[in-house]
Amino acid sequence: MVVTKNIVVVGDGAAGIMTANKLRYMNSEKDARVTLIGNNVKNFCRSDGPQIALRMKKFTESVKPVNFLLNSKVDFVRDEVTQVRPKNRLLYLKSGKKYDYDYLVLAPGLADAPEKLPGYEGEAKHMLDMQHALELGKTLENLAEGTVIVATNGASAPNLMGFFELALVYTEMLAHIKSKIKVKFVSPDNGAFPIQELSAFFADKFKSLGIELVTGFKVTSINQKNKEIVSTENKAINYDVLVLPPPLKTREFL
Ligand SMILES: Cc1cc2nc3c(=O)[nH]c(=O)nc-3n(C[C@H](O)[C@H](O)[C@H](O)COP(=O)(O)OP(=O)(O)OC[C@H]3O[C@@H](n4cnc5c(N)ncnc54)[C@H](O)[C@@H]3O)c2cc1C
Repeated sequence: MVVTKNIVVVGDGAAGIMTANKLRYMNSEKDARVTLIGNNVKNFCRSDGPQIALRMKKFTESVKPVNFLLNSKVDFVRDEVTQVRPKNRLLYLKSGKKYDYDYLVLAPGLADAPEKLPGYEGEAKHMLDMQHALELGKTLENLAEGTVIVATNGASAPNLMGFFELALVYTEMLAHIKSKIKVKFVSPDNGAFPIQELSAFFADKFKSLGIELVTGFKVTSINQKNKEIVSTENKAINYDVLVLPPPLKTREFL
């Protein structure tokens, strides 16, 4: 069989898996070989993060082996790309192997960069991956009283809506159980949400649930000792639990 095109997709998250499946669907096996290269052991459905943290969903339902999600006619290579050489159309892999391609799709997502925000590491919680969602769940469950700050720190955070969802659902769940917990929502924008029309909706919703809304507050550091977030203007707000997405960076091999 003569294969005319060699298409390689790098990254086995939602984007890479869907792209590889679609490419397989659109090209006959005679016309193209489709290969997915990824280093994920299992795929986590990231939008389930808030529900897992709030114990509304079992994490086992949100995790699937990559093979399970992939068209069986896509070649799956579990490995890590360490270098791309576009001139030679070559990929170098961590295992020492090389891979050539005719067409390349890069879908490696973004990497967490907690080091970009002083005080973040080991202190702030989030639910953007399974491990952190489970940890956050445990922390919220064990909290009997105090202040939970949910902060977004900018529209560039992926899945911004997840943080709104978490604040709203957590507060609703708490209403009858833990009256000693206060939730504050901290946004760097002028309103609750970076889109004006949605800001009014969230402001009303927060008000009705008793969530305090703090706007125009960009977290520039976290003082772990005093348990406070500090803004560009050097203002500070105290917390007992801090929920904040980590800063992000592009993958190093790119
Ligand atoms: C709470 C929440 C709600 C959301 N809601 C929505 C929604 O309603 N609609 C929507 O569209 N999106 C939503 N999202 C966003 C969506 O989940 C993400 O945008 C999506 O999961 C990102 O997928 P990705 O494949 O681009 O990146 P990732 O999930 O980061 O996957 C990248 C993959 O590439 C692999 N990789 C990285 N580097 C290499 C390398 N060098 N070699 C090999 N493999 C590598 C990684 O291991 C990883 O498996 C939500 C997210 C959250 C957290």
